[in-house]
Amino acid sequence: MRSCAVVQKNMKIPNNLKHESQGIKLEPSATGAKGAIHEKKGSEPFAPREGMGQRSAARSGIHRNITLKRLMLDFGQAIRCQQPMVRILGRPFARSRRRVEIDITYRCNMRCLNCNRSATQAPAAIDMPVAQIKAFLHDSVAAGIRWERIRLLGGEPTLHPELSAIVTLLETYRCRHNPTLRIVICTNGSGPQVRNALSALSPKIVVKNTLKSDRQRLFRPFNLAPVDQRRHRFADFGCGCRIIEDCGLGLTPQGYYPCAIAGGIDRIFGFGLGRRSLPAVDDEMTDLLERFCPLCGHFGFARPTRKPRISRTWRRGYERYRRRQTRI
Ligand code: SF4
Ligand code: SF4
Repeated sequence: MRSCAVVQKNMKIPNNLKHESQGIKLEPSATGAKGAIHEKKGSEPFAPREGMGQRSAARSGIHRNITLKRLMLDFGQAIRCQQPMVRILGRPFARSRRRVEIDITYRCNMRCLNCNRSATQAPAAIDMPVAQIKAFLHDSVAAGIRWERIRLLGGEPTLHPELSAIVTLLETYRCRHNPTLRIVICTNGSGPQVRNALSALSPKIVVKNTLKSDRQRLFRPFNLAPVDQRRHRFADFGCGCRIIEDCGLGLTPQGYYPCAIAGGIDRIFGFGLGRRSLPAVDDEMTDLLERFCPLCGHFGFARPTRKPRISRTWRRGYERYRRRQTRI
């Protein structure tokens, strides 16, 4: 591929970012995210479809996670995931083998009250090491997995101190192994530091911008644990929710999960259940769904809110988390 040849020719590789094993090389460019892949105009292997670039994001408006269509889907899945329905029809969702979301940091400059990564409820400056992403890419190539989409999230992913090295790794992987891959950054688009980081990105990175402000948005009440609500007593939590299909596998600093949200839950509850290596294709991760979905306000249907809502299990979870933090 022409673009790869150009990258290889111009590439100066810092020793600390070299990774070579089983004949697979993932060597990022030293030039950083901006212009890391020097392709001629017109040679773009894919057309960004999701959220569009940061310049056009401002034109196209705000990406919203709460829509009428999604609420209707949530309502349908609440019924579909009841045990009698599952006994007749089977489980409705299977985890994606084509999409992955990587929570590269839990830092965030916003304080959304129902944050589903607990960045407000339990803020922490935890960053994913670049080596973890390198290992993920290496293992993906070794397993012959060609991701259709890799999303970077957080927290606010642009606050990761090594964002440009991460983006360069991903672009090099796309160039060498997976030219149709979509690389997406999900950002709150708020504040000068975030906007500067976005403007430094290569135009081939797709930006999904929620353009948050100080005004609280509508959120699903993430901290209302289904296990605390009688209406979920006949639910089959091993079903998960449509996020395991739509968003895909979660890679977090705690390991791999059927969704990145489950990794964020594990950060607070401290079960330490994340898989340590890339899950095998036949691993449905149902054991993790059964453990984390009873705690997750995304399970089934819940009325969106702008106010903080928290149930007993989460209140205790955060208290234990804070006690653990003060002991460290
Ligand atoms: S911007 Fe995102 S990560 Fe930050 S507090 Fe809001 S929901 Fe959480
Ligand atoms: S943990 Fe939450 S987001 Fe993940 S599959 Fe379960 S209900 Fe869905």
